[in-house]
Amino acid sequence: MRMEVIRQLKKLESVQAMVSMMTKADTEVELLRIPDCNYCTTPTPSYVDGKTTTGPWAYMCEWHFHLMGIGLGLGRGQKLILKGEDNE
Ligand SMILES: [Zn+2]
Repeated sequence: MRMEVIRQLKKLESVQAMVSMMTKADTEVELLRIPDCNYCTTPTPSYVDGKTTTGPWAYMCEWHFHLMGIGLGLGRGQKLILKGEDNE
């Protein structure tokens, strides 16, 4: 019985690993320039382009993402990654 539970857990772990690999592309986006947060009154580089709790999408800094973001993933939000111009 105990072995069966462990086997099931192992199966679950590998499914989760597969899902996180598949969804990684949906949680990040590379940009040449990071836009400023739409909610900060002073220019603050945004951390996420995502859907807010009030509906519309917006650029949000880390603080505002935690405040009004609904999470990362397809249809929810993408973390903004600065694409280095010198790399290519
Ligand atoms: Zn902000």
